[in-house]
Amino acid sequence: MAKIIDGKAIAAKIRAEISAEAAQLKQKGIVPGLAVVLVGEDPASKVYVSMKEKACADVGIFSDEYKLSADTGEAELLALIDKLNHDPKIHGILVQLPLPKQINTERVLEAISPDKDADGFHPYNVGRLVIGKPLFQPCTPYGVMVMLKEAGVELSGKEVVVVGRSNIVGKPVAFMCLQQNATVTLCHSKTRDLAAKVSQADVVIAAVGVPEMIKGAWIKEGAVVIDVGVNRVGEKKLVGDVEYAAASERASAITPVPGGVGPMTITMLLQNTLESAKRGL
Ligand code: NDP
Repeated sequence: MAKIIDGKAIAAKIRAEISAEAAQLKQKGIVPGLAVVLVGEDPASKVYVSMKEKACADVGIFSDEYKLSADTGEAELLALIDKLNHDPKIHGILVQLPLPKQINTERVLEAISPDKDADGFHPYNVGRLVIGKPLFQPCTPYGVMVMLKEAGVELSGKEVVVVGRSNIVGKPVAFMCLQQNATVTLCHSKTRDLAAKVSQADVVIAAVGVPEMIKGAWIKEGAVVIDVGVNRVGEKKLVGDVEYAAASERASAITPVPGGVGPMTITMLLQNTLESAKRGL
């Protein structure tokens, strides 16, 4: 039976460390600050934003929320970002996605100063990640890497199979594993014989968004399984992208859903804000 990689426990440990460091910074007169920008009324976005603010408050990070109406124009949002780029109290800027249709998301993300880009989505930061010199790392893949480290998984020389190639999870996590000297295979919807690819993996990272599409029988005996997927089935149940029960029979370690990668994402946002404030010292 696989060991469970407990994202909640790891996140709590990292948050305690962030809290201690934020307290030390405060003694030097610096309070790490995160600006959170929400445009519109998307209910899921509202929940994420309030979770992020609560998490900030819990660790001693100052958070400033900007709620803009759904009909906000791009120019107004860009003006706000420009103001935040120049605000010395703010070390990280987060624009909650998705944005309303009238706003060009790419233009907005590129307007955020790369040295306040707490989500790590600016092309400058993506480029730095690819060349192995990251400044801000995107939060979910950063969380995956911390979980692997905390679980004692050594990646050097290992076969890592990432399923999903989104810009926010699959691609960055593949480059992060490459940087740790893994041999990385990046799979997607056009990949032929996914089962064969997954069955070669020492470490499987699933970021697809299809409930339990990675079958337990595909997992190599002793492999480590990181399931980024969060899929709602029925009214209340959440499942990952991996067939958890069957995969647990074969894996040596596995992340649950919920309670796996999920709690790490906001934690790494806090970490990015803290690191940014420290860089400003
Ligand atoms: P996207 O929809 O942006 O990307 C999904 C990827 O999966 C695409 O690359 C797609 O391929 C690939 N894919 C889809 N179907 C298949 C298939 N049948 N076989 C192989 N590959 C397939 O998703 P995200 O990366 O944004 O998110 C992935 C999952 O992770 C979701 O469940 C999401 O909710 C979750 N998530 C969880 C977070 C957390 O904090 N825990 C944070 C972010 C995401 P192609 O490119 O060819 O279309």
